[in-house]
Amino acid sequence: MAAEPDPDRALADLRALRALTEDDRGAQRVAWTDTWAQARAWLVERLAGLPVRVDTDEAGNLWAVLDGASPDTVVLGSHIDSVPDGGWLDGALGVLGGLEVLRTLAAKSTPPVTVALVDWADEEGARFGRSLLGSGLATGTLDPRDVRDVTDGDGVALTDALIAHGVDLNAAPAARARLGAAVAYLELHIEQGPVLERDGLSVGVVTGTAGVERHAVRIRGQAVQGGGFPMDARRDALVAGARLVLAVREAARDAYSRATVGAIAVRPAIPTAVPGVCELTIDQRHPDAAALAAMVNEVHDAAARIAVDERVAIDFERIWAIAPVAFDDDLIALADDTAREVTGGSARLFSGALHDAAAVASAGVPAVMLFVQSTGGISHAREEDTAPEHLAAGVRTLARLADRVIARSAGPPG
Ligand SMILES: [Zn+2]
Repeated sequence: MAAEPDPDRALADLRALRALTEDDRGAQRVAWTDTWAQARAWLVERLAGLPVRVDTDEAGNLWAVLDGASPDTVVLGSHIDSVPDGGWLDGALGVLGGLEVLRTLAAKSTPPVTVALVDWADEEGARFGRSLLGSGLATGTLDPRDVRDVTDGDGVALTDALIAHGVDLNAAPAARARLGAAVAYLELHIEQGPVLERDGLSVGVVTGTAGVERHAVRIRGQAVQGGGFPMDARRDALVAGARLVLAVREAARDAYSRATVGAIAVRPAIPTAVPGVCELTIDQRHPDAAALAAMVNEVHDAAARIAVDERVAIDFERIWAIAPVAFDDDLIALADDTAREVTGGSARLFSGALHDAAAVASAGVPAVMLFVQSTGGISHAREEDTAPEHLAAGVRTLARLADRVIARSAGPPG
């Protein structure tokens, strides 16, 4: 019967990648940089001893394929890129946990179905501001035309950075062919939130990713001299903005709602002037599309009332949005059951953050994610961490889930 995965090997790999790509500020595996390429070259070395075909697709995603008796493919994946000054686990856990599963399967006889590991390129969008770049291009959820003119903070064109790493943006949609035989997609990831730790669980199952509505808001009042102008005659854009910030929080009242005002600026921004202009961003998220729309509407209604009260103009500009993505019901149930079997407990969570699995699911491939608890819920920082026993539980759960999905994909249910 099955060779067992060795989570210690995955942990050793994670620590080795950390040593290779971390400085005193954190992980520096930003996509399309030398450090990222180094991390990839290291990963290819780790794959070298295995009976797998390794290559990069047209969108820059790295694939390792273990051929099975059937071309039907169970795909394991995540991303090795990080944000600047990032953590050692975000993305890397899914790739190196998947590598351990692949190693375990490769040590046995030919699997009944093909099993692939994918390292998606540029999940974070840290340098060019476009998340899920490689998975988006490969799944057709991102059109190359939408990113053709994008540049980084130094003015380097995305297209040039990609070419330097062997990727022609125009040809990238051809990567779609890789998913043609995919029957399931499994991704292991850290939670990046506090729920599993709070509930004393190692592993949970992700039911889907939240929809996002992001707006830029511009509030126009009248800048006047703060010492001279009576309070009841002011048209203070920041007071209106402050009321709007509270309305944003107020509208996020159920357990699934997330709402953030993460940026705010006023003009003229001096101690002696009533602010005449206030600009802020609103990022609202919910796993249910109707609930998300209701949150957005509630804030718009509140803004209309505040505008009358404060005698200001409030304009909303939608700057980004994505619909909620639900993962596959059967895979969720199987993952939930597997997590209980392997770790003694499980929980169903939705993800407020985006992941490559959302792009894959949007393309019609049945997908599910496993979350591993995150210490303090901290991520995208050097402090990002998870205790070894939880990491090991995550790798074992992924391996067992892969076994079950492979067995299920191999033939009719019986
Ligand atoms: Zn990630």
